[in-house]
Amino acid sequence: MSIPVWAQVVYLGCAVAFILALKGLSGPRTARTGNLIGAAAAVVACALPFFYLDDMDNVVLILVAIAVGTAGGAYGARTVQMTQMPQMVALFNGVGGGAAALVALLELDEIAGTGLDLGWFVLAATAFTVFVGSVSFAGSVVTFAKLQELMTSRPVVFPGLAVVFAAALLGGLVLSGLLVAEPAIWAGIVLALVGLAFGLLLVLPVGGADVPIVISLLNAFTGLTVAAGGYVLSNTLLLVAGTLVGASGTFLTLLMARAMGRSVANILFGALKGGSTLGSGEASDRPVKSAGPTDAAIMLGYADRVIIVPGYGLAVAQAQHSLRELVDVLGERDIKVDYAIHPVAGRMPGHMNVLLAEAQVPYEQLKEMDEINGDFKDADVVLVVGANDVVNPAAKTTPGAPIYGMPILNADDAKQIIFMKRSMRPGFAGIENELLFDEKTTLLFGDAKDTMSKLVNAVKAL
Ligand code: NDP
Repeated sequence: MSIPVWAQVVYLGCAVAFILALKGLSGPRTARTGNLIGAAAAVVACALPFFYLDDMDNVVLILVAIAVGTAGGAYGARTVQMTQMPQMVALFNGVGGGAAALVALLELDEIAGTGLDLGWFVLAATAFTVFVGSVSFAGSVVTFAKLQELMTSRPVVFPGLAVVFAAALLGGLVLSGLLVAEPAIWAGIVLALVGLAFGLLLVLPVGGADVPIVISLLNAFTGLTVAAGGYVLSNTLLLVAGTLVGASGTFLTLLMARAMGRSVANILFGALKGGSTLGSGEASDRPVKSAGPTDAAIMLGYADRVIIVPGYGLAVAQAQHSLRELVDVLGERDIKVDYAIHPVAGRMPGHMNVLLAEAQVPYEQLKEMDEINGDFKDADVVLVVGANDVVNPAAKTTPGAPIYGMPILNADDAKQIIFMKRSMRPGFAGIENELLFDEKTTLLFGDAKDTMSKLVNAVKAL
């Protein structure tokens, strides 16, 4: 049925709100408002059909599904740890793609049943939604399982993988062609199954540190699927929202790949060529120089310029509040302190910004990598808190290292470096960090939260 004009105007308002939401999400100060605007528009868009459709079937089932989805989403969002956010995004993204594929299958069933001639483009869009939505669902489930450590996070490859992969892609194309020529539900169901298989084959060979990038790519796939679904259902809002998700997911994927110094093709297919995307992950037993909080406090308390490099371990330890206290105490001693934010520090884009915003760190103290990299040479002390790969010089010096080519923070230029970590285990990329053995480096072993409190007290006592 056609959508009444008043409802189309409301949909248009929702589409504008989605664009404003994205705009808001692009900066830390406006992100919360942007998120609220987007969520409110989504609620309005979901509720709207109840007001203009007068022949709605299965209302009770729809309401139950909405209640279950809302309860699950609210519970998940409230209980998820910040460090588990990428898995959560993967799961949400997967159900989005899966839902779009199911809706397209239902549409296909109706088209095939009524024998309506809707033209080849609608059928092609339906086939696209079924196939890519299924790819997104299966791929997202695998990325979730990898990040949640329900399966190995290393690349899974087997002989003949490339051939099976190509066969699945070809099968998907042939079935889509069949579906356009003669719409039949069996072809749609087989296409969905091939899509699921293709999704598995696409993500299984991707290892460890690359998985969050693939989540972003699958997010772009889901967006495109939803946009195509919007076309099939003649729903302009779905088309706009899907296109926004598709475009932003694509940009995010490219930006993350660039921040890691890799191409998207290398991330997806690197393991097929035999190389692993991760190091051995073994802890080094080479000797290092270590100290206690009192010695570290003296180094920091008598410096003029200090740069903090936060990383994944800061999030794990939840030491952001104590870190902020340390920076305040150093500030009272007239020491200039900044935070150096690497674009892929932590496990998701913007991870460190969100973490430090939670501790009310002033935005002007957060310096992006390009802005601060020239300042390290003037820093008396760099305090690395739970970071590793983002300061690992192997990215510049060791061709073949998993992070080779990734731009890093120039912590090695500073006069002294203090590393806060618990052990000699490597970071996400699983490789040794030569900076730990540098003569300018002192290790401060322990959980970052616990050690940070001791460090704050030691600086206060100076
Ligand atoms: P890393 O994973 O390289 O290092 C984290 C360090 O924190 C480890 O050396 C670990 O050492 C230490 N650590 C862990 N828990 C604690 C704790 N409780 N207290 C103190 N230290 C702790 O993190 P980085 O932030 O430097 O680098 C991010 C990595 O993630 C990069 O490889 C990046 O490519 C990858 N990545 C990031 C994405 C993003 O969007 N941000 C997306 C995809 C991948 P120890 O165990 O000894 O304590």
